[in-house]
Order: sequence, then structure tokens, then C-alpha cells
Amino acid sequence: MTCMRKGHLLGNVLIVKGDLIRLSKSCIGAAEKNAVMDVLDSEYLGMGQKTKDFENILSAYFNRTSTCVVNGTAALHLALQAVGVGIGDEVLVPSITYVSSFQAIAATGATPIACDIDPTTFCLDVNDAESRITENTKAMMPVHYAGGMGPISKYYELANKHGLRVVEDAAHALGSQYDGNLIGSFGDITCFSFDGIKNITAGEGGCIVTSDPKVIEKVKNSRLLGVDKDTEARFNRKRSWDISVTDQGWRYHMSDIMSAIGISQFHRLDEFSSKRQKLAERYGVKLKSSGRIIPLISDFKNIVPHIYVIKIKGCINRALLRKNILARGVETGIHYTPNHLLDYFRHDVKLDLPVTDLHFPTILSLPLHPDLSFDDVDRVCHILISELKKL
Ligand SMILES: *Cc1c(COP(=O)(O)O)cnc(C)c1O
Repeated sequence: MTCMRKGHLLGNVLIVKGDLIRLSKSCIGAAEKNAVMDVLDSEYLGMGQKTKDFENILSAYFNRTSTCVVNGTAALHLALQAVGVGIGDEVLVPSITYVSSFQAIAATGATPIACDIDPTTFCLDVNDAESRITENTKAMMPVHYAGGMGPISKYYELANKHGLRVVEDAAHALGSQYDGNLIGSFGDITCFSFDGIKNITAGEGGCIVTSDPKVIEKVKNSRLLGVDKDTEARFNRKRSWDISVTDQGWRYHMSDIMSAIGISQFHRLDEFSSKRQKLAERYGVKLKSSGRIIPLISDFKNIVPHIYVIKIKGCINRALLRKNILARGVETGIHYTPNHLLDYFRHDVKLDLPVTDLHFPTILSLPLHPDLSFDDVDRVCHILISELKKL
């Protein structure tokens, strides 16, 4: 089912013929709409029973306590704060990630240390990360790029060797498995995002998954302005006005409206995941004939792809390619501008990042969301290959 938007103006390109194939989008049905209406009808919109239910569902899924917050960035921020990351500290993070990862680190007062990536996964290069460790390094934030993973067991070996905490940015990796284990079901702290275009959405939203009781207690309080035990009070509908606050807190809790969407979406996670995997596999088959396109990931047995990233061989004018593809009705993306090239973070880079710098100009993301059809994928491949030939 393609999203119909005829004559749609995108940037300054007018799509006249055919339908626009969107890069990503929310996939919303009657269940989500009804669930939201039920919450509206209840006239209790804040954090209550629905959020408790969503947390219970997620905790059962990961087999570890899950705490819901307003977005994935907030999840990362609170996780870092809970392990004591703050001013003067350094956190290792790959440069190729959404700016969320960097801003969440910066929000604690710590410095994000941009690291290089492994060219085969675009995930944190463990040797490069080790070379950037100083006496101020407190944590590392591997990012499970596109839903794939780096050598997670090596990340934990490095962390143990240097006494670092690990906050996994798993915003792309809901449903993916590492070594037969669900991402989020093991490790130190794992953070997910339920933003509109993630593998499932809660409108916005995110969660922090861990088995560390201290972290669980801290994030439960810090998401509610640092008010002690406010989570329990709200879940029991017994909010107290006689409060105790002992730590910096934020207004980061999830609402019942969001949780209602999240629960409905969670019930579709298996359906969404297998659709994403099948679409990605189809891309692999269809793109083979072009000798110039290398899919970043080609085995989707254990990986639920969040984005479909290709590397394009040979020097190309990527901006022109994207413009020409868009003129034929296909949106593409670039995940992501490396954070060490952004003005706000540039000064924090201590060494160069040769692998990131080499590969960033060659990447392109193709449309991927569960409402795409196989015909849509075929059309994207056909347009991409023919436009690439012209350049
Ligand atoms: C989406 C995303 C986040 C943050 O999630 P939000 O819910 O948008 O705040 C963090 N890291 C990565 C890599 C993401 O893609």
C-alpha cells in the first residue's frame, strides 16, 4: 500500500506523476485510534494505568525492568545520569549516529567522544574506542546502527577492563538479536525509542531497560522531576503533595495516550519485523544486478532492519542522484551526518575518523516501512539503478 500524495511538493521538486514512496512513516490502524479514544474517554491522560501496562508488557518481553519515558533521547539522558555521568566526564560514542546520542551525553554536562566505526557494520570500532579512553572516560554508548550490531561482547570486555558503564543506544534495534539473545534482554542498560518512524511507535516515547535496581529507582524518580516514589503514587492513583526531592529531575514521563498507542503497536511488532526483514531481503536481490550498490546488511535472520542503507561505489554526485530519484517519486535519506562534523561537537574531536570520513559520502538510505509493498521496492530499485547509470 503506497501512500498516495499526487502533486506533492517536496523541497522544490514537484512530484507530478505517480505516488510518492516515502522513506519512512508511522503505520497506524484502527486499533491505535480506538486505544487513544479510550484514553481520551477516561479523562485521565497523564501517566497512569496504561503506562504501567505498557511497562509490564515491555518488561515481560525483555525479561528485565523497562521504564517508559517521553522519547529515546530522554531515555539515553536519564540512563547516563543514573550511572553518575556528569560534568567533566567523557562518553565514547560512534560519530555516525542520530544527533540524539550526542545531545543526550551533552545534556548531562559530559563530553561525547566521537569514535570511528567498523566499515562492515557502521557500529562502534572497539579498537578505536579503546584508543580514546582517558582518565575521564566514564561510559560508552554503542549504537546498533540500522538494527545491526557490532561485537557487543567485545564492547563489554572493554568496559569491564576499564570500569566503564555501557548505555546501548538501541533506538534502531527493537526486535534484533545478538548471538541468539534479544537486544535489551542482556547487558548493562539498553535504551529504545518509540518515535513516529521507529520499529514501533508510541507517538513519541522511549524506554530504559536494565536489571540494575539502583538505575531503575533513579530513572523512575528522575523522569518525574526527581520526586521520590512519584511513579508508584501515580500508578496507584494516590498522588501525594507532600513530596521529597533529592536529585535533579526532568519532565520526561510517558503519558497514557502514548502508552495506548505503544501497546497497540507492540501487538504488531512481529508482523512489522517480518515485513521489514522481507522488504530488506528483496532489496538485496533486486540490487544485485547493479555492480555499484553494496547493501550494508544482507543477512536479516537475526536483524530487524530499521533503515535500509546502501553504499555506492565510485564517485557520485549524491545530492543530484537524490534529487533525480525524488523527481521520480522516491524519497531517500542519509543516516547520518557524522556528529564530529556538526559545529556544536566539532571541537571535541581529538583524532580524525578515517573510516567514517571515507564511507559517509557513499551512503544512502532507501525507503523502508511496513506499509511498503514488494512492488514499491522493485520500483525503488529500478529507479535507483537507472538514475545511477546516468551519472
Ligand atoms: C531515534 C533515535 C534516537 C532518539 O530517539 P527519539 O525518540 O527520537 O528521541 C537515538 N538514537 C538514534 C540512533 C535514533 O535513531
